[in-house]
Amino acid sequence: MSSTLLHACCGPCSTVAVPAWRELGVEPVAWFENPNIQPEAERERRRESMVRYSRAAALELILPAEREESEGWLAWRTGLAHAGPDERCVACLGLRLDAAGAAARELGFARFSTTLTVSPYQRHDIIVAAGETAADRHGVDFIYVDARDRFRTSYAESRRLGLYRQPYCGCAASKWEAWHARRSRRARRA
Ligand code: SF4
Repeated sequence: MSSTLLHACCGPCSTVAVPAWRELGVEPVAWFENPNIQPEAERERRRESMVRYSRAAALELILPAEREESEGWLAWRTGLAHAGPDERCVACLGLRLDAAGAAARELGFARFSTTLTVSPYQRHDIIVAAGETAADRHGVDFIYVDARDRFRTSYAESRRLGLYRQPYCGCAASKWEAWHARRSRRARRA
């Protein structure tokens, strides 16, 4: 059995994160769970994209069953929906990596990691802090692999495999921020 549970945020990031682990001689098991994605239809599209990638890459994938929202996520949605990115993302990354650490322990993995470290748009200092906190809490190891140098390659790999590639991070606020940034770029070019 693999010793590494890889929290998978999406198919496109997995196209480069999984090969990075394989190059290290580790065959990870992917674990997709992203309750932060809004709206629900978007979450489903990303889930389908992840399934498609796992089939193409012969990757073992765990899809946790849909379940009631935890108190943590309900608090995040209601209390932090309008907070700035720092506060919002600390809570969001903390919840996701805590869930990944708990899953690693429950499923019998010695360590866990995340594909979130492919993105140059994520705060890697927050990811490391959240991963290490979750590891301490659940008695497993967290392994940080900086894969930002592969981010551009994930575009080409996604196109090659016909994967849906999302245009924003996940929450409703990030969708609005991405739309606003695109609009500002277009206005500057005009
Ligand atoms: S921008 Fe991304 S990491 Fe930050 S709160 Fe939204 S979904 Fe989570």
